[in-house]
Amino acid sequence: MEHVLFLAHTEADNTLHKSAHEALSAAKTLAEGLGASLSAGLVGGEVQAAADSIAGCGAEKIFGVSGETFGQSRYATDAAAFEALAKAAGASIVVAPSTSRINRALPGAAQRLGGVCDTDTTGAAASGDQASIKRWFYRQRMVAEMTRTERPWFITIAPGSLSAWEGASGGASVESVAVDVDTRTQVTGQKAPAADEQTIRPDAKLLFVTGAGWTKKQKDGQVHGQRAAQIIKGFLHNASCSLGSSKSLTDMSAEGGQVLPFLSHLNQVGQTGSTPRHPKGLATCCHGEEPHVVGWRFINERRAVNLDANCGWAHGKADVLYVADAFEVMEKVNALLGG
Ligand SMILES: Cc1cc2nc3c(=O)[nH]c(=O)nc-3n(C[C@H](O)[C@H](O)[C@H](O)COP(=O)(O)OP(=O)(O)OC[C@H]3O[C@@H](n4cnc5c(N)ncnc54)[C@H](O)[C@@H]3O)c2cc1C
Repeated sequence: MEHVLFLAHTEADNTLHKSAHEALSAAKTLAEGLGASLSAGLVGGEVQAAADSIAGCGAEKIFGVSGETFGQSRYATDAAAFEALAKAAGASIVVAPSTSRINRALPGAAQRLGGVCDTDTTGAAASGDQASIKRWFYRQRMVAEMTRTERPWFITIAPGSLSAWEGASGGASVESVAVDVDTRTQVTGQKAPAADEQTIRPDAKLLFVTGAGWTKKQKDGQVHGQRAAQIIKGFLHNASCSLGSSKSLTDMSAEGGQVLPFLSHLNQVGQTGSTPRHPKGLATCCHGEEPHVVGWRFINERRAVNLDANCGWAHGKADVLYVADAFEVMEKVNALLGG
């Protein structure tokens, strides 16, 4: 008989992130489908508020590893906490969100317990007494449905792939699990860019993609790099969207061409870039070639602005193609948005 453990860490404000609620949906789907029992395990500086927020999820028990040491993301303490929680719950299947913190330490916990770990899965299902996961391969070109016989089986769920669990909060009773762990790493503080300097925003409703066209000669025979930068930054600010880029545009920095200074290779979307998940996407001055568009696999509604009515987007890769000058369109959009 399987026992499913939902595992998550709290955020700096002691809440659970949306991705944790999505993983909880997967854990519940598995537990209900398998007829298995469900428990929850939380790690953080303070876990009571998070436990209260999922009090109505149907977990038999909620275990917690808390204290100042566990408020920080650190391999040694996280791996020890995850291991202790899986043991305390007697879990045969552990489901957690694919956060960088979980993905870094969970495989270590799986190894210590003689189990296996599949990260970045996009779904979990149960048929009879068989649990299965969905995982994409070959740069998101092929999807596989997989089962495993090894236990404990640790599974992380990619953010944005499932609906978040919603349910009643309440007063939860947390069973505290003691973890004795030594660490040489002391976290003395955090350095992060200001929120408005951060252009990659995984939770944004819109992915705004810029292509090489923004830095190419326009109809007046001139390049308008500064104007392009101003328009793009204005739209990022006005729409609070996430910034993606084509490979050609990010590669220009290496080739010494005219570059948008706030773009890095981390913004690149595509076969050799990222595959972000957003409800909507808007591509501008980008041709829509296959190695780029393959990174749009998980964008639900796709639109593009291109001068070329025969660009890649027109060949079934976008839901709507506006054949127009992106400089003019986006300036107008920014004006309408009040920026
Ligand atoms: C192995 C391999 C892996 C690759 N991986 C990736 C990847 O991960 N990501 C990726 O993006 N690419 C990838 N590529 C490259 C990809 O094939 C394309 O070369 C690249 O995506 C083209 O970038 P682009 O559309 O920005 O530029 P271009 O092809 O130069 O297109 C610029 C577009 O801007 C339009 N334009 C110009 N001015 C305006 C204007 N004022 N208004 C509206 N439109 C305008 C033009 O009509 C044109 O369509 C890969 C290629 C290979 C071989």
